[in-house]
Amino acid sequence: MKNVAIFGSTGSIGESTLNVIRENPDLFNIVTLVAGKNIEKLINQIDEFHPKNVYIMEEENANRLKKQYKDINIYFGEEGMEEISQLLDFDISISALVGIAGLKPTYNMIKNGKTVALANKEVLVAGGELIMRTAKENGAKLLTVDSEHSAIMQCLNGEENNEIDKILLTASGGPFFDKEITDEITVEQALNHPTWKMGPKVTIDSSTMMNKGFEIIEAKWLFDVQPNQIQVVVHRKSLVHSMVQFKDGTIMANIGPKSMQIPIAYALNYPSRLPNNIEKLDLFEVVDLKFEKPDLNKFKCLELAYKAIEKGHCYQVILNAANEVLVDAFLNKKIKYTDIPKGIAKMMDKYEKKELNTVDEILEFDREVKKRTREIL
Ligand code: NDP
Repeated sequence: MKNVAIFGSTGSIGESTLNVIRENPDLFNIVTLVAGKNIEKLINQIDEFHPKNVYIMEEENANRLKKQYKDINIYFGEEGMEEISQLLDFDISISALVGIAGLKPTYNMIKNGKTVALANKEVLVAGGELIMRTAKENGAKLLTVDSEHSAIMQCLNGEENNEIDKILLTASGGPFFDKEITDEITVEQALNHPTWKMGPKVTIDSSTMMNKGFEIIEAKWLFDVQPNQIQVVVHRKSLVHSMVQFKDGTIMANIGPKSMQIPIAYALNYPSRLPNNIEKLDLFEVVDLKFEKPDLNKFKCLELAYKAIEKGHCYQVILNAANEVLVDAFLNKKIKYTDIPKGIAKMMDKYEKKELNTVDEILEFDREVKKRTREIL
């Protein structure tokens, strides 16, 4: 029986994780649930899974939980997040908070030598070098539940890293791949992802292809390859989850149903697979496997991600911070869709290169960039 902590239990990845656990009650036991604001959903999860430790962002909600659940340790606020992420009573944690909020708790768990399955890609965008080094120094195991990276991890099973020629990172292309990107794009249109159902921020990132830019950075750190060894391949059907091309020309592909439960279950039960009730792929129905190149002139956010990779770490922190503010502003209908890349480009031009060596330095810089991004809105 593995004890599991879920950071982001009320989100899309959190709920998929709970589905896997619900289907495998003999294998997994929930010890920690971490949520933001959705107290009603969290209460349902507490009643079903009986965790020992629970976090909710606001004090008022925490007080309500404390009254209702006398035998559960309830945490809230910044201090509470620090404390709950330092607990050692789990075997594996799913890191699925959204945005930079995931950096410090993930760092704490890694520093304590724990096993972390990472969904939150922003953690590696903002702190890749630090996280990978800290994991190595403390014997922590870092797994991934991002579907593309899980696919790559599976293609690399039993292979030597130095035999990789290229990672072929697949992308759905989002809702606008075959459409014009205009100022008139609405929040509803951008949230209408053609193949995946995910949380709002990652869905917008997917539509701008910023998500793919983040995933290039994520793959670089997870698989220790150079960015020029990672090629983005648009595959509209999202059935090939990614591929690795080796030095002898062999391409290994990971193909399967579109369900986040599969990579999540793979990480939870790593390295063994778990059976599930998800409909298997019928290869005779998969008529063709078409691959296309992304147009960087059209997907400016992907272009900006390449630029940030070339310019160095602090520009990746800027990319992430500005994007978080601008996507939030777009979701709240305060700016136009096309203002997202414009705002990021503006912020990337404002800063000289600087070193960011610790979590605190990264977080402080993130706050500063966010403040300045809000000022230009
Ligand atoms: P959601 O927005 O659906 O969920 C985010 C979760 O984090 C919620 O439980 C939310 O709580 C919680 N949360 C957010 N901020 C805080 C905070 N400051 N303190 C405590 N809890 C917080 O996002 P997704 O599940 O879609 O994505 C999570 C991460 O995984 C993202 O980084 C995304 O890029 C990545 N990812 C997602 C995939 C997907 O299929 N969804 C696929 C691959 C990667 P609440 O809702 O209660 O406020």
